Amino acid sequence: MESTPYMESSWAKPDTPFEMPLRPQTLSDFSGQEAVRQKLEVLIGAAKSRGEALGHSLFCGPPGLGKTTLAHIIAKAMGTQLTVTSGPALEKPGDLAGLLTNLKKGDLLFIDEIHRLSKTAEEYLYPAMEDFSLDLMIDSGANARSIRVELQPFTLIGATTRSGLLSAPLRSRFLISLRLDYYDTETLARILKRTATLLQVELDQEAAEEIGKRARGTPRVANNLLRWVRDVCQIQKKKKIDLSLAQKALAMLEIDERGLDEMDKKILSVMIDHHKGGPLGLANLAAAVGEEPHTIEEVYEPFLILQGFIRRTPRGREATSLAYEHMGRTSV
Ligand code: ADP
Repeated sequence: MESTPYMESSWAKPDTPFEMPLRPQTLSDFSGQEAVRQKLEVLIGAAKSRGEALGHSLFCGPPGLGKTTLAHIIAKAMGTQLTVTSGPALEKPGDLAGLLTNLKKGDLLFIDEIHRLSKTAEEYLYPAMEDFSLDLMIDSGANARSIRVELQPFTLIGATTRSGLLSAPLRSRFLISLRLDYYDTETLARILKRTATLLQVELDQEAAEEIGKRARGTPRVANNLLRWVRDVCQIQKKKKIDLSLAQKALAMLEIDERGLDEMDKKILSVMIDHHKGGPLGLANLAAAVGEEPHTIEEVYEPFLILQGFIRRTPRGREATSLAYEHMGRTSV
């Protein structure tokens, strides 16, 4: 059977079709995250020269910053296959065993949201990571027995938006932990120019910076905004995306000049208008805005904190004076 770079299985995470062609293929194509890139260059170079599998690596950081992309890049650089899955998809230990036993020497297993792996799956992973072996339970009750299955040396790449939720034993089994940070506007503009070329649309530098500025420091958001602006450009029969077109198109999405979208503004308005600026607990806030608590915690809150609109206190979240100012309210 011809090997494919992605395992087709019910629990393997499908790649969003439009993200695939936009993914940088090499580390030099991957913009920003200098420190992470440098460390990966060393790891890949050393592993290749020894002819060994790369050490298990953990990527931490908010969604859309390039964790999956880096896993693809590593697999390509190492000349091995990548299997993509996620913590919640590996409910039964059998799911994990199936994936692990299919890996060939040097292959990469990417587990997204690894902090959501079940306890049992996690315990299966320990000997797999340490000794490349699996202890499988066969039968149940009086007939239950364990057999040891040898695995090929492989590399586990874990990705998490919540590194604090990872258990200490699991964390300690990774050779290295790499943190991805939000991107600055200049880097996002560079990524957008590259995406524009791939989408075959002309994008002015100022327009790229404008979109980059409103993209929450996140390449995935930036690329999605560019797709929207390109659609507007096409409908308006314009030849290229300039600053004024980008501004108009982004205004239609109600994304303001600080990159806050409807949900960010809803969060701030609930805090300010209904709760006198807080403190407010996560469950209350999530219920009030109709969003999942973990999405608030992993997607919205880190950006609002980074921008200085929210602060976390032991009693809950509080809106800052900057939030009052930005929302056009007077603080009490
Ligand atoms: P994550 O796994 O962290 O959620 P992804 O790796 O799926 O994020 O990246 C989301 C999108 O952003 C992909 O389409 C990818 O091409 C793009 N992207 C992420 N980081 C970069 C980067 N540094 N340079 C160029 N494109 C990037």
